[in-house]
Amino acid sequence: MQIGTVKEIKNHEYRVGLTPESVAELVEHGHAILVEQAAGEGIGASDDDYRAAGAEVVATAAEVFERAEMIVKVKEPQPVETAMLRPGQILYTYLHLAPDPEQTKALIASGATCIAYETVTAPNGGLPLLKPMSQVAGRMSVQAGATALEKAHGGRGVLLGGVPGVRPARVVVLGGGVVGFNAAQMAVGLGANVTILDRNTDTLEKLANHFEASANTAYSTRTRVLELISTADLVIGAVLIPGAAAPKLVRREDLALMQPGAVLCDVAIDQGGCFETSRATTHAEPTYEVDGIVHYCVANMPGAVARTSTYALNNVTLLFALRIANKGWKVALKEDPHLRQGLNVWDGKITNAPVAQALGHDF
Ligand code: NAD
Repeated sequence: MQIGTVKEIKNHEYRVGLTPESVAELVEHGHAILVEQAAGEGIGASDDDYRAAGAEVVATAAEVFERAEMIVKVKEPQPVETAMLRPGQILYTYLHLAPDPEQTKALIASGATCIAYETVTAPNGGLPLLKPMSQVAGRMSVQAGATALEKAHGGRGVLLGGVPGVRPARVVVLGGGVVGFNAAQMAVGLGANVTILDRNTDTLEKLANHFEASANTAYSTRTRVLELISTADLVIGAVLIPGAAAPKLVRREDLALMQPGAVLCDVAIDQGGCFETSRATTHAEPTYEVDGIVHYCVANMPGAVARTSTYALNNVTLLFALRIANKGWKVALKEDPHLRQGLNVWDGKITNAPVAQALGHDF
């Protein structure tokens, strides 16, 4: 199959759909790969790296769209890209169509076969093509929180791990799913005093078994949250209620209970945030202060570590890309009901029930 990847054009997006290693793997299976010039610039992969992997580097995205049977990307296509899609062409990328009727309309009109990373499922539950980005954000939240705790960034001047003779920082992680687990791992690794809260007792049990005495677990009630945030140096918001806005676990009036210069890091900001005072920020200006409390609320945290994020994403997308390319998309999806869940738009129709429902379409 002729497969193509292009330079991402969404604002501040540095990731790329295929790494040179993924290209080499696809070439090994007999596929021909087209890569737009400078597509890998944001992850430090040069055109020569792609050529060495067996790709043909071409000057424009238009040429990739014109010649490729499947386009592999990271972000949803921007209008100029959607306009280049053609009937029957496969688009394999993050789409997030549910809140985006405009994009959905354009993809339906394109006639392309659109497979969205975020709706592919796994036999053991969960969303395997979203998981690596939660791992990245969880791990990064501790780095971001540690920086925000520094005096020069408005924080209370506390080192997460302390030093011999001075106590480490208290880190509270709200939500013990993928983000929360990864955040806790990093904070424990740095020597902080860590408490993870969740409402799912099975999750709490798994966390307690994993961390043993190196972290505390607690059932998440309002009383417990208030008690823990009042002595916390860093609070990481990592809750998710699937399909719903994040619950507000810390209200504005609660900030008065916290220590001045403490940090709230709201990873759940992409679902509206779990602190009442959260508003989305960017990597250019990641923090702001409310009532003496530093807030970090970057909505696309993985973008800052584009190289790690791209490799983590390729680790989970490559296998499906290979199956689609080797067998053709119809057979690949027929054989795997979990990959089938990824099909969002085909032949001018929405083909994923929750996406159709969210957009008020018949299914
Ligand atoms: P997840 O489903 O793996 O974990 C969420 C956890 O929250 C679950 O264990 C759930 O039981 C728990 N929870 C729900 N209500 C709770 C409550 N009231 N108190 C305590 N715990 C509660 O989800 P995840 O993959 O860890 O993602 C968490 C959030 O991070 C999501 O909103 C996700 O979209 C977001 N995220 C943001 C970025 C970013 O760049 N900002 C990147 C990746 C993920």
